[in-house]
Amino acid sequence: MNVQKNENEFVDLRNYNSLKIPSYCKTLIHLSSVQDLLLFSNLLHDKKFILGEGTNIIIDAPAERPILYPILLNVIKNKTILSSKKNIIYVRCFGGENWNTFVNWTLENNFGGIENLISIPGTVGAAPFQNIGAYGVEISNFISSVNVWDFKKKVIKTLTRKQCKFSYRSSIFKEQVKDDGINNPRYLILSIDFRLWKIDKYPLQIEYSGIKEKLPDKPTAKKLASVIAKLREQKLPNPNSYPNIGSFFINPSISVKKAQLLKKKFPEMPFSVQKENSLIKISAAWLIEKAGFRGKRENNIGVSNRHSLILINYKNASAKKILSFAKEIQDAVMQKFNIQLTIEPTILDSSEI
Ligand SMILES: Cc1cc2nc3c(=O)[nH]c(=O)nc-3n(C[C@H](O)[C@H](O)[C@H](O)COP(=O)(O)OP(=O)(O)OC[C@H]3O[C@@H](n4cnc5c(N)ncnc54)[C@H](O)[C@@H]3O)c2cc1C
Repeated sequence: MNVQKNENEFVDLRNYNSLKIPSYCKTLIHLSSVQDLLLFSNLLHDKKFILGEGTNIIIDAPAERPILYPILLNVIKNKTILSSKKNIIYVRCFGGENWNTFVNWTLENNFGGIENLISIPGTVGAAPFQNIGAYGVEISNFISSVNVWDFKKKVIKTLTRKQCKFSYRSSIFKEQVKDDGINNPRYLILSIDFRLWKIDKYPLQIEYSGIKEKLPDKPTAKKLASVIAKLREQKLPNPNSYPNIGSFFINPSISVKKAQLLKKKFPEMPFSVQKENSLIKISAAWLIEKAGFRGKRENNIGVSNRHSLILINYKNASAKKILSFAKEIQDAVMQKFNIQLTIEPTILDSSEI
């Protein structure tokens, strides 16, 4: 365990969030083993925040208002094959592993299933938090169970896939902090048990628009992964050059009736029907573009001209400035379409009690 703490200075979190917001905390604890966690849990204050690679958070903690409770940086790593039977392989991966490294490892070992989720930044441990998804696939489709540290009961517990209550960009983990506060997480995701397939024994998910035509007649999981990785590279600004956190808003779901009314007014509006609840999912990127925000820049903040769901912090903008720009977008979309856009990433605000 490595504890970064300096009595005279606060820890600079700029390199721990991909939006590169200047932000500070008093104590940053690097958890590198389960033993660290057991040792530390007895000393733990009530409040804490779990950090992965910071690719889906907005940290609102400027130098004059740093985070005073501990931030737990999850760097617990390891991945192992648990068992295999016929075409199914069970694999355990610890939360501090990098997600993309894990996807590549599964492909190198000829395990299929999560190839559509290649190139998503962040840790394995954060992936169930918002049930990461891309190109028609969600991580929850391949999770068998999630092993967590339960801060309340101070035990390691296994949650089945059902107990994780996965839904579009959400889970029990996200809902719990929504209810109890972002600085009061009940569970730290230690490791995930995945149910994967022997490569190419699983029907590839290639229906997402723009993929099929780029694949050969007999596509393989590895080829699919490389096509998606290339598409993402072309479409998404790299956070190392253009600090961002991926999609800033989730795609809104609206009623069939409301969608029909909008479709009359905007016949070209893209939409999809959600099988699970019969609601209509609308593309947030399209709404933002039509509200006139694609490529729009205000001082140090702007909407990417490559992808209108991505906000870029061009130079040291504060969380408050970024959130007020996001509010302008929300207001414009509300005014034009009567649809409320919801912010996707976690907001870590040091003034939250
Ligand atoms: C360029 C770019 C593209 C992206 N594309 C996609 C995409 O296609 N699909 C998609 O779904 N997302 C996408 N994202 C968002 C992001 O990659 C994911 O949400 C990712 O899972 C975040 O991982 P992280 O380790 O950075 O989490 P962090 O940002 O560090 O944390 C996110 C949340 O998870 C919680 N958390 C982190 N680790 C744990 C843990 N071990 N236990 C419990 N809670 C934890 C944190 O407390 C926080 O609330 C993209 C981001 C970027 C920058």
